Amino acid sequence: MHNHRPPRSASSASYLYQSAQRPSPPTSSYASTSQPSHLRPNYPELRQGVTPAPVPTPPIIQAPPRSQPHHQHVPYPNETRGLKVVTVPKDCLQKFLGIASANTAVNKETCGLLLGKDKGSKYTVTTLLIPKQHSSSDTCTMDEEELVLQFTEERSLITLGWIHTHPSQSCFMSSVDLHTHSGFQRMLPESFAIVCAPKSKPNFGIFRLTDPPGLKTILDCKATDAFHPHPDLPIYTDADKGHVQMKEGPLEIVDLR
Ligand SMILES: [Zn+2]
Ligand SMILES: [Zn+2]
Repeated sequence: MHNHRPPRSASSASYLYQSAQRPSPPTSSYASTSQPSHLRPNYPELRQGVTPAPVPTPPIIQAPPRSQPHHQHVPYPNETRGLKVVTVPKDCLQKFLGIASANTAVNKETCGLLLGKDKGSKYTVTTLLIPKQHSSSDTCTMDEEELVLQFTEERSLITLGWIHTHPSQSCFMSSVDLHTHSGFQRMLPESFAIVCAPKSKPNFGIFRLTDPPGLKTILDCKATDAFHPHPDLPIYTDADKGHVQMKEGPLEIVDLR
């Protein structure tokens, strides 16, 4: 999902990581399009009924202590104004980490999509979809995206967020992650990104681009260098103190791999 080097230091502005790189050339990774490909028109031949993968014993999830400097929450004016609440099943993180554990053990990333429904006054995540993918220690690229299109269209599900691991890195949004997420958030302002960093503390974060100025900053970014900085602005922020809420609820897991 990204190529990045570790955060340099824990400064008060360290949520503005400027050390990440974008894949070049982009292919079918999340970062490859400004518009999530699964939101494109659908295919008629649909497939469903995929058996959920066995879930190994998941590691303990720890809520990020907000005093940790990896990603300082900077309250941003009107950050969540007008956004619908998105509820996420509480056990989503543990289940995803369980699914990812085999990859994590060999220092490979894992990515998934969080799909759900528009309930009118809120969105509800109902399904964790693991697409076919290939990954490395710092990248994760979705394969055969048409299978994702088929699934979401047939089930009338909306992509509400995405989730990926940093198997050996800390918990932050790399610049590739930011560019990837800009494609989701421009389509749905409520879109959020969950980063799981099992070997780091805090070991997860739920993020969104600030809007303004983060979303436009990233969409307007024309950087082509593998590693490129972004302006010294609050580019992204925590979403779990805002419109994303962890709640008890059922979670369907579909593994397309
Ligand atoms: Zn990442
Ligand atoms: Zn950029």
